[in-house]
Amino acid sequence: MIDYHIHSNFSPDSNSSVEDIVKYAREKNLKIIITDHYEAVEKDHNFKFDVKSYKEAMKKYGLLVGVEFGWDGKSKIDIDLKEFDFVILSYHAYKEYDDIQKMYENYLKDLYNIIEVVNDFHVLGHLDFPRRFVKNNEPFSKKLYPLISEIFKKIIKEGKILEVNTSAIYRYGEPNPSYDILKLYRDLGGKYVTIGSDAHRLEDVGRGIYDTLGNLKDLGFEYIMVLNDGKWDMEKIV
Ligand SMILES: [Zn+2]
Ligand SMILES: [Zn+2]
Repeated sequence: MIDYHIHSNFSPDSNSSVEDIVKYAREKNLKIIITDHYEAVEKDHNFKFDVKSYKEAMKKYGLLVGVEFGWDGKSKIDIDLKEFDFVILSYHAYKEYDDIQKMYENYLKDLYNIIEVVNDFHVLGHLDFPRRFVKNNEPFSKKLYPLISEIFKKIIKEGKILEVNTSAIYRYGEPNPSYDILKLYRDLGGKYVTIGSDAHRLEDVGRGIYDTLGNLKDLGFEYIMVLNDGKWDMEKIV
């Protein structure tokens, strides 16, 4: 099994050392990529790590160099994403709202604009992310599916991969994006997915992956995308 979304203490919101993560993953027989936050955003979550020492740490443990790159669509991008073996593109906007669905709609429109500008990424991270924070974790309305479809059509055309992020399962029982949205992706011809726990604590590494893979199979996904020696492969979900 794999876990392609993990935060170490190179991210300010995690305390796990790279060494501990590697050890834990080995015990659990997980192939991992650590993907710390590098945010090009205004205001509060301006997380950045020193790329050189980050790369050295990954090299020391024989890991590919991953990053979760967050962008707000307007700040200056001060990093070359080609420096990384594995790039998750994420939009970490969560805005105050009167109307939840309107906030979701704006999120999706922004996200579309972001993927129009940023090309150097492999995986689109946790698509319905703001659902994690709203009252009762209200799902994205079906009325927003045409907007989501536009995003999916674009990433499918460009050969990008959709992330299935398992961390929300322990908040409200579904991954990001939700199973309905994953079904939409599948119906549009989307085949490529990766999976990650988004662990910010050691004990969350690999959490939810096994069960979610079973559910993906039920939705008609046959493969999970994996990086072998720096090359993308399709690994059958068994
Ligand atoms: Zn994220
Ligand atoms: Zn993350």
